[in-house]
Amino acid sequence: MPQGLGVAPVTCHSAATNPYREAYDNADVRPADHRSAPMTDLLTAVSRPLPLIDDETRFFWEGTRDHRLLMLRCKECERFVHHPRPVCPSCLSSALEPAELSGRGVVYTFTVTEQAFHPFWADRLPYTLVVVELAEQAGLRFLSELVGDTPEDAVGLPVVVVWEDVDDEVTLPLFRLVGAGGQA
Ligand SMILES: [Zn+2]
Repeated sequence: MPQGLGVAPVTCHSAATNPYREAYDNADVRPADHRSAPMTDLLTAVSRPLPLIDDETRFFWEGTRDHRLLMLRCKECERFVHHPRPVCPSCLSSALEPAELSGRGVVYTFTVTEQAFHPFWADRLPYTLVVVELAEQAGLRFLSELVGDTPEDAVGLPVVVVWEDVDDEVTLPLFRLVGAGGQA
């Protein structure tokens, strides 16, 4: 083989090098272990992965702390823009400001996850990831978790936001089916 055409070095995420796998192996989170593990160890091992808040997304997380679902809205063409970004993808205006949504929509698609890709989920399986099409605008979609029972075919069913207060800084917007959980 001519020199210089060799195979580029590849980082292999084997069990020895993959930090998530290592965290999983080290985490005392298997259901059989829960009964005997001290609570402080469990809290350290299974903290929920949380978003990193930056200047572009701070308004969103400040809104969720108040249990308000905010998204950027273009002052020129009045379209909602998600995810947060400096320029409207419809009209290229940079006149964007946060506006509140109803928190209602329908299930656009969903998947029931049966494998924990992070130790936090190890004893919370299965859980349902959902893409919600929000009521305010066709095509305005939001990735979240669907809590409560998930019917075999949830596509098109109405959902409403519910709030999970994780800590002083982060409240997560999750969704549940309308009519589930005792609320309209
Ligand atoms: Zn616009």
